[in-house]
Amino acid sequence: MTLINTETRFRGLPLSGGVVYAKVCLFNESRHRAIPLHKVSDREVGREKERVRKAVKVVREKLDLLIESVRAKVGAAEAEIFTAQKMILSDPALEKRIFDHIDSKNFNAEKAISSSLDFFESQILKMDNAYLKERASDIGEVKRRFLDALANLNPSFQCAGESFCRKGKDRVVIAEELTPSLTMELNTKYVRGFVTDRGGVASHAAILARGLKVPAVSGIANIHDMMFCGTDVLVDGNSGEVILWPTRQTLSQYPELKLPRGEFVKAIGPIPSLKVMANLNLAKNVREVTDQKAEGIGLYRTEFEFFAAGRLLDEEEQYQRYRSVLKATKGQAVYFRMLDIGGDKNAEFLKLPQERNPYLGFRGSRFLLGHRDLFRTQARALARASRHGRVHVMYPMVIDLEQFAQLQKAFLEETADIPAGEIKHGIMFEVPSACLDAEEFFKVIDFGSIGTNDLIQYVFAVDRDNEAVAYDHHPDRKIFWTLIRHVAHAARKHRKALSVCGELAGNPVYARKLIREGIRAVSVAPKMIPGLRMAIKNKPKLSGTKAQRLILKKV
Ligand code: PEP
Ligand code: MG
Repeated sequence: MTLINTETRFRGLPLSGGVVYAKVCLFNESRHRAIPLHKVSDREVGREKERVRKAVKVVREKLDLLIESVRAKVGAAEAEIFTAQKMILSDPALEKRIFDHIDSKNFNAEKAISSSLDFFESQILKMDNAYLKERASDIGEVKRRFLDALANLNPSFQCAGESFCRKGKDRVVIAEELTPSLTMELNTKYVRGFVTDRGGVASHAAILARGLKVPAVSGIANIHDMMFCGTDVLVDGNSGEVILWPTRQTLSQYPELKLPRGEFVKAIGPIPSLKVMANLNLAKNVREVTDQKAEGIGLYRTEFEFFAAGRLLDEEEQYQRYRSVLKATKGQAVYFRMLDIGGDKNAEFLKLPQERNPYLGFRGSRFLLGHRDLFRTQARALARASRHGRVHVMYPMVIDLEQFAQLQKAFLEETADIPAGEIKHGIMFEVPSACLDAEEFFKVIDFGSIGTNDLIQYVFAVDRDNEAVAYDHHPDRKIFWTLIRHVAHAARKHRKALSVCGELAGNPVYARKLIREGIRAVSVAPKMIPGLRMAIKNKPKLSGTKAQRLILKKV
């Protein structure tokens, strides 16, 4: 049995936020040119037959590779989709019909193949058998692969340029790489999302998608081989997940899909099983947090204030921003992460020396301790702001107890003369050494927050921003959850607050898993709050459903 239409998940690199559910448009420059369907002279008949033979060989080899790779990466059952296509390709009746068309009607290879496969497809569609009717789409795919091989294209020639082709309009555009010339052919105004094989956060596709405010994901190698134009796809630009043929249950976890473009899900209030705080990058956006009824700010990435200004901010400028956030959140806890600079968070205006390996270099708390002037200014601004609300100072990338002690000491020294309110000191658990030592940490810190984006990067030695390895940047490995459980257990033992603020916390499937591991608080992007709360509230049971387990296996 082929499993085409079975929900299948891929994980890539999130380039532009938001969620969309639409049909696919496989796009590249060449594909939308007209297919050369014409007759040939008697002299050319032999050449056309040879082209068909070569194309059969190319398609067969391609399918063999695909079967192997899907079997290894997804599963044997899913690989059967392509085995079925290989069987169609090897059917002697098909070959006979194609050659007959060339010999007797002087059709060129494209015309002979198209008309032969169209014929078989129409015969199947006439049958009164739902299962066989579904197989007609396999024939359509074989045709597209044939035309692709004949055109000597990469395997994106699957739309066949027929009447249903909408050139990306109201569709999720899938391309190997979204080049500027490709976008010239698209009416990008009406594109609903992008998925590409290649392209990092600064790629053309990423910039374009963010500008258009549509979700985009990259780094999903050969995804276009698994589908064709018109396939249903859900693109989650927040988590980097791309889901083909999503089930109704999956769709129900994305309430924003029901809304017209640009509108957001209505806020819902707190739920009992999980405290949901918000991540904030800029003070000027704090309304998004309060509008969503977040229970505090679990991660305020203060470095973004500097990036937005394109320069360093002085103490007063920082104080104004921090105070405004505290005032807006009216007594709720705000976790101010002190400047997290370095690695993916490159502060160009600081003109720092180039490093060979910035992800393991002068960054996070190491950077803070090495730039006492910047540290002092921020610490003083925070101490002053603490008179207006509940300041939690969170240190990034802490590696050991000694580093934390140095940071806390430095903070207290730099702010000793300021009449401050109560300030709590905690760390981000995002370096494996800190997680392993959680027991000791919770004896001295006031709170902790697990930064899963970096934690996954460092636990599995996989760059969080490299689309070529994005398939490995995911939490679906037992050891990762063992680590989470370890940190959660240590926090409970010492009765200290612990939350999770990495991207995965916004995904209901993982949020439930976090709850199972003993986590009771998360911090997510404001627009993810209602969807998350709704999903957890509607399915409060802590055990995953069968469908969810399948998903976890596949991602
Ligand atoms: C993290 O690393 O998971 C995190 C929340 O922080 P950032 O993404 O800003 O590094
Ligand atoms: Mg981090």
